[in-house]
Amino acid sequence: MKESFAELLEVSAKIHGHLCAGQVIGVRMALLGLRLTGIDDPKGADRKKLYVIVEIDRCATDAIQSVTGCSLGKRSLRWLDFGIMAATFVNLATGKAARVTAREEARELSAKYCPELADKYQRQLEAYRIMPEEELFTAQEVRVSIPDCDLPGRPIRRVQCVQCGDYVQDCRETERDGQLICRACAGRRYWQAVR
Ligand SMILES: [Zn+2]
Ligand SMILES: [Zn+2]
Repeated sequence: MKESFAELLEVSAKIHGHLCAGQVIGVRMALLGLRLTGIDDPKGADRKKLYVIVEIDRCATDAIQSVTGCSLGKRSLRWLDFGIMAATFVNLATGKAARVTAREEARELSAKYCPELADKYQRQLEAYRIMPEEELFTAQEVRVSIPDCDLPGRPIRRVQCVQCGDYVQDCRETERDGQLICRACAGRRYWQAVR
């Protein structure tokens, strides 16, 4: 990476809206994930090689997006709602992938590094900057098969729902009685028309 940890943290805090322990965790998690997958320049030469799956929609996710340049809109960032402070980094060119999880133990360990800070939250924020990676994270090499429908690039398919008429991209349609319908019409509508 061209930027230093401090520079990356500053940018992510700005985009996220505040500096928090999650930003520190997210920046460090992203740096570890990039290193483990052999990605050196995620926003430049390697920008089409990286794919990230985040397992939680919390502070650190914004930092991961900021450091890696991966985003929902580019389809290089996917959110799977597992509620786990973890992310998997995939090098699409080599297939090398690493899942990095924030260790629960790091919360308590933070006291070892900044005992002078009485406020637990402030202590974690400061300690996470300097704690060794092994205390903050566990990382494992994994294999991930990403369906073609989930990859960046032009939509593979675009079909019209026979019930509501909305167009569905990226193979998210459902077949019922031989007809293609959208997820909402298949029973997953999250909204109700007011009039
Ligand atoms: Zn935050
Ligand atoms: Zn529909």
